[in-house]
Amino acid sequence: NGGANDPKNLKVKLVLLGDSGVGKSCIVLRFVRGQFDPTSKVTIGASFLSQTIALQDSTTVKFEIWDTAGQERYAALAPLYYRGAAVSIIVYDITSPESFHKAKYWVKELQKHGSPDIVMALVGNKADLNEKREDGIDYAEKNGMYFIETSAKTADNINQLFEEIAKRLPRPAP
Ligand code: GDP
Ligand code: MG
Repeated sequence: NGGANDPKNLKVKLVLLGDSGVGKSCIVLRFVRGQFDPTSKVTIGASFLSQTIALQDSTTVKFEIWDTAGQERYAALAPLYYRGAAVSIIVYDITSPESFHKAKYWVKELQKHGSPDIVMALVGNKADLNEKREDGIDYAEKNGMYFIETSAKTADNINQLFEEIAKRLPRPAP
């Protein structure tokens, strides 16, 4: 086998959404390259990277990752990136109520216009910052989403995020 529907070697389109500055690009860079660059550039439009992980049951999952720009002027482009996506990671910054508000907007948008069986994760990033925090767990549970707090800076929970998503993917029949 090895075709597009090979249940042992999944290929999934994943889109990251969320306010500008919450750390989407840093999460991707940490996951794909194991690096954190505090001087990383603002994403223009969207960028694409892929990364494959192996699960314990010897399944491999290739994530084709679309990292979008959060700025308002690109909002109209978002449907191009989330259309057909099997996974959406919606990111907010735990120290920014505004970014949490924006995350809820993206959840609603995907509930309306995303694939009906899309796997959605809500991610509270910058968990290394010890400030008054927004806790997304209740909101995520109410909306049937996986929730995790991450830090792209310290690498905390970055691999766990993608592994948990991989486990939640609908599997094609063998
Ligand atoms: P994006 O606009 O969502 O892609 O955000 P970026 O990935 O460009 O990150 C925006 C800013 O947040 C940068 O200055 C990063 O260095 C910083 N940043 C990203 N992730 C973290 C994190 O986990 N902890 C901390 N303290 N800063 C972070
Ligand atoms: Mg970015």
